[in-house]
Amino acid sequence: MKVVLLGPPGAGKGTQAQRLAWEVGVPYVATGDMLRRHVRKGTDLGTRARAYMDRGDLVPDDLIIAMVRRRLEEADCQGGFILDGFPRTPAQAEALAALAPPDVVLYLDVREDEIARRLSGRRTCRECGAVYHLEFDPPAEAGVCDRCGGALDQRVDDREEVVRERVRTYRRQTEPVVDRYRARSLLVEVDGSGTIPEVEARLREALREAGLLT
Ligand code: AMP
Repeated sequence: MKVVLLGPPGAGKGTQAQRLAWEVGVPYVATGDMLRRHVRKGTDLGTRARAYMDRGDLVPDDLIIAMVRRRLEEADCQGGFILDGFPRTPAQAEALAALAPPDVVLYLDVREDEIARRLSGRRTCRECGAVYHLEFDPPAEAGVCDRCGGALDQRVDDREEVVRERVRTYRRQTEPVVDRYRARSLLVEVDGSGTIPEVEARLREALREAGLLT
């Protein structure tokens, strides 16, 4: 199953996509996580991407498309994938259509005041990228990742002023992608409000309705 998860920053894409991918048994491919790994390792791509990421802008299409192409060509993605954070521009959507056209695009819909609440409490593992929330999904021990024992940090781009810029970037560059998939009847809108299990149940139902889950 080739699934794209779209939605504004803070909609819960990462949390939900990781859970679904694990249950369904396809790789979870998150361009934001891939880029943060490049930044941590200090690769050439990481060095070039960092300035854009830290101010809430998009990394240029050519860099992202090349990175995603390499990933989707790997053996484990041949049976499908769940994409989180890609495509974010019309050019990226076109590249994906040529590379591995999605079966369905799930759109997680949340209100703007909810976005701020979710992002301000979000904490991310420095080592493995696992995502927690101080209020809604805290780790067993404060500041420590349940999965790998790594330290939890607030992402630089989850600070309030950068979040505002990320939401503006989303409206300007990614909403046209949402419209494009809607026009092609590939988009399924899912209510992203409520608890993590509630949203997950709605996403599973949407996948069942699309004939991708039994
Ligand atoms: P995310 O973890 O998905 O919120 O992504 C964090 C940051 O990485 C974004 O604010 C962008 O700067 C960059 N990024 C992630 N995915 C993409 C993409 N598909 N196109 C351009 N920039 C991206």
